[in-house]
Amino acid sequence: MATIKEPSFRESVDLMFNRAVALLDLSPGLEEKIRVCNSTYTVRFGVRLRGQIHTFTGYRSVHSEHMEPVKGGIRYAMGVNQDEVEALAALMTYKCALVEAPFGGSKGGLRIDPRQYDEHELEQITRRFAYELIKRDLINPSQNVPAPDMGTGEREMAWIADQYKRMQTTDINGNACVTGKPINAGGIQGRTEATGRGVQYALREFFRDQIGVQKAGLSGDLEGKRVIVQGLGNVGYHAAKFLSEEDGALITGIIERDGALFNPKGLDVEAVRHWLTSHGGVTGYPDATHTAEGAAVLEEDCDILIPAAMEGVINLGNAARIKAPLIIEAANGPVTAGADEILRDKGVVIIPDMYANAGGVTVSYFEWVKNLSHIRFGRMGRRQEESRHQLIVEELERLSADRGLGWTLSPGFKEKYLRGAGELELVRSGLDDTMRTAYQSMRDVWHGRDDVKDLRTAAYLISISRVAASYRAKGL
Ligand code: NAD
Repeated sequence: MATIKEPSFRESVDLMFNRAVALLDLSPGLEEKIRVCNSTYTVRFGVRLRGQIHTFTGYRSVHSEHMEPVKGGIRYAMGVNQDEVEALAALMTYKCALVEAPFGGSKGGLRIDPRQYDEHELEQITRRFAYELIKRDLINPSQNVPAPDMGTGEREMAWIADQYKRMQTTDINGNACVTGKPINAGGIQGRTEATGRGVQYALREFFRDQIGVQKAGLSGDLEGKRVIVQGLGNVGYHAAKFLSEEDGALITGIIERDGALFNPKGLDVEAVRHWLTSHGGVTGYPDATHTAEGAAVLEEDCDILIPAAMEGVINLGNAARIKAPLIIEAANGPVTAGADEILRDKGVVIIPDMYANAGGVTVSYFEWVKNLSHIRFGRMGRRQEESRHQLIVEELERLSADRGLGWTLSPGFKEKYLRGAGELELVRSGLDDTMRTAYQSMRDVWHGRDDVKDLRTAAYLISISRVAASYRAKGL
């Protein structure tokens, strides 16, 4: 029997793009211009570590410069290759267009297993990689702005920002050369958890769309929904934590590199995360059944499946056995094009990556704006807002006393109402608004057009149309 070949990650993204573009009426040649990756820079550099020179390979790919700067994370993993960064850069273009973040798409990667190096070594490697990219303007506040991705976090972003400022000492906007920095190095409140928070807001908005919920064969809201999460890293951990602590969802399964934990009564996400960070894996965690073959748990019965680790985990090999009626792609590209087709035929609803994990780039956008404006959000207006609210409360209390009405405000009302919005509240509000608005635009296409059967096609249609409009406006 002939085996069906799984397309590469980039081919998968292109296939999904092609499916959507067939439904659009673009001028000849524009479709090709939007699809292709503009450039990919490969760098090989040496770093002296432990008495010998180690050579590393890194990439920075720019998919589309219809808007600048271009934006996209830097990934540290052994599997990093050109095909992968190009696929991820393309997804960034579509993602930014969908959530109206004014950026083109880019992505970077370094072929490295970060767990094999200590902090000092990682700093040397990161600074050297950053140096190579900075001197070619592949890191630059107005041209190319990286962020964290798999295997990197705020620590690496702080090193990159510092490296940029050492090399471009007169650039007053130096901090805006990278996002996802720690607060004390020009970061913004709420960035670390932004992608996971965005997954939560995306699911909340999905459950407000009763037609969508019915299409998935579900009902009600997130309360009591059984959720399986793959990858308890930055994105998966925050999504699982917020969904269980704030929305009443039950995290019944957690899949990690060394196997999966399952507990139908719900896992304690904080406790599992603590176990994972202190033991380096989930094996041995007491309050759950452990399965060594973790990927098999993707096929367990649940209401919502959240792949939040890496690409290609739901593929031709297991798609037919997936039982979840709703999949939200917290990772980039977790469902291959072939699997997508199988799942669609089964009636599974997939909330696509370019929307589902856009919380990260959304808050990165806020951080970049903060860095360029050199002022924290809320600093000018917060106390003014509080004093206006105070006026209303005092007036209500005066009216009640003067007229003998005996009105009393509910407990906690004053405290909540009188508190003006600080940076974190504003970031959450901006993120929530972004996730709602983007979902609604996809929803209208999904439910409104007979030729659009799924949210992914709807998402591509919207973003490709926006990129095309931007090219047209430039006269291309
Ligand atoms: P991370 O490195 O913080 O976490 C990844 C987690 O997945 C780790 O706990 C790791 O042990 C686990 N993992 C790796 N391989 C696995 C496997 N085969 N099976 C099960 N678990 C495995 O990375 P992250 O930043 O959370 O990124 C995860 C995904 O989300 C990636 O696809 C990334 O591109 C995407 N993403 C991240 C962000 C962000 O802001 N960090 C934004 C958008 C999208």
